[in-house]
Amino acid sequence: MSKNVCKGRIYKANVYMGPTAGGFASIIRFVELKKKSCHGCKYCGPIDSDLQEVNWKDWPIIDIEKAEHGKLYTLEVCNVGYEIESGVIDEWDLKLVEYKGDKNEQE
Ligand SMILES: [Zn+2]
Repeated sequence: MSKNVCKGRIYKANVYMGPTAGGFASIIRFVELKKKSCHGCKYCGPIDSDLQEVNWKDWPIIDIEKAEHGKLYTLEVCNVGYEIESGVIDEWDLKLVEYKGDKNEQE
C-alpha cells in the first residue's frame, strides 16, 4: 500500500462567541479553501461524502474546541477501523489539526 500523501481539505476557522438556543457558546464555522485543498482522491473521498451528510455541529471532531479564529486547519483521520473480512475501512474519527502549509508554500 502506498503512503497517504493527501493533504486533505484545508479550512479556515471562524470562531464567534454568541447567544445560542442553549445559552452562550462559541460557534465554530469552517470555510473550505478550495485552492489549497486536495481536489479529491481515494483517501479523502469517503470523508467528503460523510461531511456532506453530517452537520459539522453533530460530527464529533476531536479537538474541535481548540480551533482559533482565522487559523487554518485540516482534518486528520485517526482511530481507523477495518472490516475484518473485506479489509475495507468502515469506521474512523476525524481530528482537527492545524495546517502549517506545504514546505515550499508561502502565504
Ligand atoms: Zn485527497
